[in-house]
Amino acid sequence: MRIIPISLPTPFYIGPVNVYLIAEDPITIIDTGPKTKDAINALRDGLRAAGFRGSDLRRIVLTHAHEDHCGLARSLRDEAKDAEVFVHEWETGHRVGRLEYAEHRQLLVRAGVPDDEIEGMRRMYEGVRMYADSFDDHEYNPLWDNAELEFATGTLRIVHTPGHTPGSCSFVREADRTIIAGDCVLKRVTPNPVLSPDPLDSSKRFPSLAEYLVSLARLRSFAPTLVHGGHGDVVHDYEELFHRYVRAIHERQSQVIGLLSNQGASAWEISRLMFPQTDDVHRFLAVSEAAAHLDLAHSEGKIALELAGEREIYRPN
Ligand SMILES: [Zn+2]
Ligand SMILES: [Zn+2]
Repeated sequence: MRIIPISLPTPFYIGPVNVYLIAEDPITIIDTGPKTKDAINALRDGLRAAGFRGSDLRRIVLTHAHEDHCGLARSLRDEAKDAEVFVHEWETGHRVGRLEYAEHRQLLVRAGVPDDEIEGMRRMYEGVRMYADSFDDHEYNPLWDNAELEFATGTLRIVHTPGHTPGSCSFVREADRTIIAGDCVLKRVTPNPVLSPDPLDSSKRFPSLAEYLVSLARLRSFAPTLVHGGHGDVVHDYEELFHRYVRAIHERQSQVIGLLSNQGASAWEISRLMFPQTDDVHRFLAVSEAAAHLDLAHSEGKIALELAGEREIYRPN
């Protein structure tokens, strides 16, 4: 089973995105790139170099529903006529064109984000949404944890690896322990656990960092020899990267706890202390990161959490 990486340009800060062609029946692409002219052209070039066209695709599989990964899913599906689109059910809320604004807004209010900042984030997300088409629920096939995607000469095991988003999935070729991990594993940066409603109870925040640590350990249990991430180079030394991530998470947690004074602070206030220079896009990611670390520290009993009106305030124990 040939796995062919294709790098596509994105208009986003993260840079190019990696998508993966499984060049074997049924011809499958894992992730699609954003909906831009440059990305579609680069994708066509990549497919052609491998001896295929967009109309050859039979399956479009999404690691998660961020625009840089899923933006072209609808165009590709329409072009390939009977191609099926697969994504994990927990991507609801991130699902293209359906950023469930009311739920996100409530999470941002609870995290202490001021109204004008929330408005700025909403405008920014409206801009980002242009890079993906929307889908209806019935247009998706669900990816089930531990099920297999079958190919002519092998299989890819679907592994639900929540953290970066609730419905993020990785794909493991067990024969040689190769993994396609989307944004769960990135060579150079520690992936950001993005603030999301819990798919099982949208009034709650998804415990993204706690889930992420479990996902990293689960991938480790496959003893991967090679990991293809959603951005950047291939990872040959997952074990080393795993330890680096865990160390970075612990260091960041100590920093976050250290920023809490006795009168307490919201996730937003902590994010402004951690990243004072950030602009709009990155303020959302910054408050995501602060909330993720505060939630993990709270779930580990290291800090206290109380409600002040609608806002959650964290305090040292
Ligand atoms: Zn992502
Ligand atoms: Zn990405």
